[in-house]
Amino acid sequence: MKTFHNPHQALHQGQQEMFRGRLVPCHEVPARLDFVLNELQRRPLGALEIPMVADTELEAAIARVHTQRYTDFLASAWDHWVAMDPANAQRDVLPSVWPLSNQHAFRADVLPTNFAARLGLFAFDAGSPLMAGTWMAARGGAACAVAAAREVLGGARSAFALTRPPGHHAGPDFLGGYCFLNNAAIAAQALVDGGESRVAVLDVDYHHGNGTQTIFYERADVLTVSVHGDPMTEYPFFLGHADERGAGPGTGFNLNLPLPRGTGFAAWRAALDQGLQAVKDFGAGALVVPMGLDTFEGDPISGFTLKTEDYLAVGEALASAGLPTVFTFEGGYAVDAVGVNAVNLLEGFERAA
Ligand SMILES: [Zn+2]
Repeated sequence: MKTFHNPHQALHQGQQEMFRGRLVPCHEVPARLDFVLNELQRRPLGALEIPMVADTELEAAIARVHTQRYTDFLASAWDHWVAMDPANAQRDVLPSVWPLSNQHAFRADVLPTNFAARLGLFAFDAGSPLMAGTWMAARGGAACAVAAAREVLGGARSAFALTRPPGHHAGPDFLGGYCFLNNAAIAAQALVDGGESRVAVLDVDYHHGNGTQTIFYERADVLTVSVHGDPMTEYPFFLGHADERGAGPGTGFNLNLPLPRGTGFAAWRAALDQGLQAVKDFGAGALVVPMGLDTFEGDPISGFTLKTEDYLAVGEALASAGLPTVFTFEGGYAVDAVGVNAVNLLEGFERAA
């Protein structure tokens, strides 16, 4: 299994996030990738490559999933932030005002001149700081997703997009949950555009993949399945409930499998098997796995109790789908364990594939 990694991803390095009323050091740190890279050096799965994707091709792949006004915003956010106040050059970009657009109390069709307002329009939380290198880092991650999709389209059984910042909370025109560009959705769309008529996304991160769900919610060619902490108590709260089954032509092509905080491997695995059955019933030709390792018992912001050795079995189970598979790297904040857990999952997949 090839791994695609882009050194630009280290340019995204937030100082602080708003977490339950306090500014705390960011949980999503560059060291997360270093631990995975170190473990891949110790237990190689295959070649480690920098993605070779031309700028125009990358921009086209991103534009298949995200709106122009959103990517324009991301590309220029840092410059606008510093233009508001030169002292901002020392501070991360964080929003402080939101339009509550889904209640129609405020308008979301207006793009205010004021940058602080624009920021609130495109961000759904204050936990996802932007900085000077965020756009380049996010693009670097998206390039990994495109390269991994191409690898699979070229006949490889699997490929790993070692992406950072993560992506599965980012929607067509919004960021949040440490995510800016939805790498899993970009990979899934690249697979569709490359000729796969049916692609499944099976999200195993602790948190619901709300961005991916939103991107494909009205489509019948991409099945989205997510096994995650019950949003009644767990982030992102406002999406990920079991009654969300898709809309319009996409009705029946979204499956949420929320589980209570405290869930251990046996019950989690039963939900995963239900998700895998849905992938099989759908008749997918390829699979994308947004791979979060924050289901781990030691994760500081999550609540399942999977153990390091369980990830080998998770990988084996995912391989049982028998599909060409792209993995994108999502959450996992027990930083010193994330490398071993990630490589366990991928090694379990390789053994069984
Ligand atoms: Zn997560």
